[in-house]
Amino acid sequence: MHCQCVVKFGTPLVPEDREDMVPEGSEIIMDVLAAGVCHSDLHIRDGGYDLGHGERLSFEERGMHLPHIMGHEPVARIARVGPDVPGDLNRDANYLVYPWNGCGDCDLCREGKENFCATPRFLGVHVDGAYSTQVRVPHERYLFPIGDMAPEHAAPLACSGLTTYSALKKVEHLLDRTPAVLIGAGGLGLMAVGLVKAMGGLPPVVVDIDPAKRQAALDAGAAAAIDGAALDAQDQITKAVGKTPEAVVDFVGAEATTKLGFECLGKDGTMVVVGLFGGASPWQLVMIAIKSVTIRGSYMGSLPEFRELMELVTSKSVPSLPTITFDLDSANAALDRLVEGKIVGRAVLMP
Ligand SMILES: [Zn+2]
Ligand SMILES: [Zn+2]
Repeated sequence: MHCQCVVKFGTPLVPEDREDMVPEGSEIIMDVLAAGVCHSDLHIRDGGYDLGHGERLSFEERGMHLPHIMGHEPVARIARVGPDVPGDLNRDANYLVYPWNGCGDCDLCREGKENFCATPRFLGVHVDGAYSTQVRVPHERYLFPIGDMAPEHAAPLACSGLTTYSALKKVEHLLDRTPAVLIGAGGLGLMAVGLVKAMGGLPPVVVDIDPAKRQAALDAGAAAAIDGAALDAQDQITKAVGKTPEAVVDFVGAEATTKLGFECLGKDGTMVVVGLFGGASPWQLVMIAIKSVTIRGSYMGSLPEFRELMELVTSKSVPSLPTITFDLDSANAALDRLVEGKIVGRAVLMP
């Protein structure tokens, strides 16, 4: 197998050739067709997150072993199966892999909330992922057939799509009452515009500082697209929503975006923080109480939510994200373009 590895944090990925993988027990070795390039891969390559107040979450201190193969949005085909895998799996199908694998044994895993497992084995994060011609999947329950969907269009659903869906579920009861405010029209924000519609919500109001991304949001069906850097951004948002917003989803998670989202939010409203850009919270504590707002986080999504998402996407024809494909050995170029903010939609590696 051929892969692109993180060998030292903060430096470019390095190509490697390794022995082909051999499956054990319930494992399935898959040939990777497509691997989405996620913004969080930039943090993995860099070795950590900025937590604000001068603090940093370090993957090295958290025990991430190098060399590491990133990639948590795989579409793949079955190549070899372990002895405990049932014989009736369709080997001709293309599968999207649920990457947020837990231990499978704890209470959370049994409820399907493997993304919250205390001993996670996330593909591309804790174990080797899909920036490779092969990926090891621990169990068949993580495989979802994608039918005739193009692999590069299905791949982003594993993280980008699921993260977006789970975040929107947290304000689902508000989506048909008042337009939601979606901050950030990168991969997640654009995906959210289509999903809000499929979930029966009103066209959302999108905020982004990049004119190209604002246009992409409008093309995807947003009711309005507002420049978050404008001095009167808050007034523009309120005007576009038609009242003070009740639901804000921050897909960036930077100090400036979360400040704007909080200031926009009306009384009794809910803001979901999804993005992991980093920094410290800038909210006025008194106003949290006076406005009685709910500020909550969302991190990927559960296995049952993934099943719901796949049903929604295959039954309601949610528009795919615009994608730009790269070959596996152009992984660094894809990541660099993401750093520069030059990717509209999603970059996808095609090993
Ligand atoms: Zn991701
Ligand atoms: Zn578990």
